[in-house]
Amino acid sequence: MKPSTITIDGPVASGKSTIGEMLARHLGYLYFDTGAMYRAVTWAALARGVPVEDEAAVTALARQLHIDITPPTADDGRQYTVLADGEDVTWAIRTPEVDAHVSVVSAYSGVRWAMVAQQRRIAQGRRVVMVGRDIGSVVLPDADLKLYLDATPEERARRRWLERRARGENVAYEEVLAMMWRRDEIDSHRTVSPLRIPDGALVIDTTGLSVEEVLARILQHLEETDP
Ligand code: C5P
Repeated sequence: MKPSTITIDGPVASGKSTIGEMLARHLGYLYFDTGAMYRAVTWAALARGVPVEDEAAVTALARQLHIDITPPTADDGRQYTVLADGEDVTWAIRTPEVDAHVSVVSAYSGVRWAMVAQQRRIAQGRRVVMVGRDIGSVVLPDADLKLYLDATPEERARRRWLERRARGENVAYEEVLAMMWRRDEIDSHRTVSPLRIPDGALVIDTTGLSVEEVLARILQHLEETDP
């Protein structure tokens, strides 16, 4: 029997979204990237002048912000469309400014619980590949298959740096590496739902592997565990 709920967790640029989308497409499952939700809250705080260090105000905003993640509505390389109160913020949530603040916002417990409740609702009764930091450990601890992707910091920073350069940004590798360290540090050490390897997860080090190789490893694991 195939698993119907699959979780993928891991640090920044460990390959979660690329692999998650490919795996979901291969299995015909819904792909859901929870990072987009924390990014949407962060974007809304910045856009509406809510100070990101004001936990109460950011939490109130997270509770009332209507976030929708839909299949792509434009053919511009997006994996999905993100709407925040109806506004298309798919690319706006990917800016360096959002990158710089998202880990602070997502460490707030009220923000997390508002997002986790929605994530559990979305996964209920669906075949889904859900991607994030706490999906196998907190959001869907009873998932049928839990994956944890990792790679060396240098490899992960290189991937992000290449992506940003491909988007036309003139950014230094060292800057990308430093920002990544900072986000990983906050994500791994926050009090609520820190990034960790979920119990029973299959851990894959993606350093030096192509996406096809990682996908093949996962599919092989599925076959081996299929009675
Ligand atoms: O995966 P992505 O880099 O888009 O996630 C952005 C940020 O959102 C992460 O650095 C983390 O702070 C937060 N996040 C989280 N829990 C999740 C998904 C993302 O705290 N399930």
